[in-house]
Amino acid sequence: MVRGACRGEDPELFFPISAAGPALAQVSSAKAVCGRCLVQPDCLSYALITRPDGIWGGTTREERWATPPARPGEAQGSLAAWWLSRSGRASTSVSTRETKKDTTDRM
Ligand code: SF4
Repeated sequence: MVRGACRGEDPELFFPISAAGPALAQVSSAKAVCGRCLVQPDCLSYALITRPDGIWGGTTREERWATPPARPGEAQGSLAAWWLSRSGRASTSVSTRETKKDTTDRM
């Protein structure tokens, strides 16, 4: 994404050879970049729909696939916020980022 914090980072960082073992350090580094990204909710929503390989929106492919897809009408509002709540992750960071993004977009 053009506004992603990963812009300028080595793309290989976001495609670890696995999500376990020695690759965990790489996964953590990639997630740290995502953690400061203002478009993380949009990126995660994209990844939940398209199901690409690699780290997107601060999640691994395995994490995204571990949560069953939304049933019709279940995911209301942000798909990323729905997924984070369904997967047991806190969604406050997404809400904060969305608020920041909304504020920035209006400027
Ligand atoms: S959430 Fe991560 S992978 Fe997605 S645009 Fe931001 S930094 Fe890049």
